[in-house]
Amino acid sequence: MSLESYCANIVDRINTGVLILDLDYNIVMWNRFLQVHSNKSTENVIDKSVFDVFPELPRRWFERKLSSVIELNTQSFCSWEQRHHLFELPHTRPITTDSVYMAQNCTFLPVLDDSKITNICLLIEDVTDVYHYQTKLNTVLEQLALSNRIDGLTQIFNRKHWEECLAKEFSRARRYDHGLALIMFDLDCFKLLNDTFGHQGGDKVLIKVASLVQTLLRACDIFGRYGGEEFAIILPETDLTGALDVAERVRRSIAEMIVEFQDEIIHASVSVGVAVINPADTRYEDLISNTDIALYKAKNAGRNKVFAINELDEFV
Ligand code: GH3
Ligand code: MG
Ligand code: MG
Repeated sequence: MSLESYCANIVDRINTGVLILDLDYNIVMWNRFLQVHSNKSTENVIDKSVFDVFPELPRRWFERKLSSVIELNTQSFCSWEQRHHLFELPHTRPITTDSVYMAQNCTFLPVLDDSKITNICLLIEDVTDVYHYQTKLNTVLEQLALSNRIDGLTQIFNRKHWEECLAKEFSRARRYDHGLALIMFDLDCFKLLNDTFGHQGGDKVLIKVASLVQTLLRACDIFGRYGGEEFAIILPETDLTGALDVAERVRRSIAEMIVEFQDEIIHASVSVGVAVINPADTRYEDLISNTDIALYKAKNAGRNKVFAINELDEFV
């Protein structure tokens, strides 16, 4: 067998589509892989325009790609991440994907004769498996990233993520000279509540508090569980009056909340501290400290109260 026949034999057996075009985009040759997967007969495609045989091709993009291969005399590549597929070839993998077509990596190779381009060879690789497992992996990674940000009990942001958000909002407020307010609230006498109703009763209160407060906030407010029975809300672009309004709504809603637990009714209350960004604050931790001082004041004043510290370090 001649070397040429060997090569033709191999091209026909490989598990990659091989398509050779002339410079007018007519099909000169293709291999068995493409014949089998496209379900078209060879005599109906040879000498036909690739755009007639595969009308699904993005014509303008494809022409631009091929002309750059011809003009620059270099190979070019299109991965499944850029375009899931170019050719609508059904995939035959025993897996369920969201596309009936095979994901493809396509390579465009200039074919030279005496250093002059005469043809373009397209290699079409079936990467349905890669696409499938990469998509699955991405979903799992997204879920993992989400669970890294969410508190398991209350399903709101955990402290780590909440604090990262505060750091960002703090530097944004500083850079653009925008307002920023912080609310922190802590459940009153929660130890006693746990002692009375058990830890599960306490947990139920924490869950209900989180879901209730979430309904009182704007989409841009950032709510998180700061510690055991302490919560915190970042209010971007908010002044003291606005923040006090939210804080009072939180306090009142929780005081009016009823939690049913094992045929009993649990009532709870919170003490709330509020602070707004202060010209002297250099780090977001300064804003947390000020809010914490206001919260401490609310506790000392008898609980179920809102205290605020304004930008002049005065309590209101
Ligand atoms: P104060 O009004 O001064 O805040 O009193 P307190 O009893 O709420 O404060 P203290 O710090 O003495 O107690 C907090 C309690 O919160 C103790 C702790 O066991 C409880 N706690 C913290 N995290 C959880 C939780 O995830 N679930 C339950 N059920 N209890 C928790
Ligand atoms: Mg407490
Ligand atoms: Mg506490």
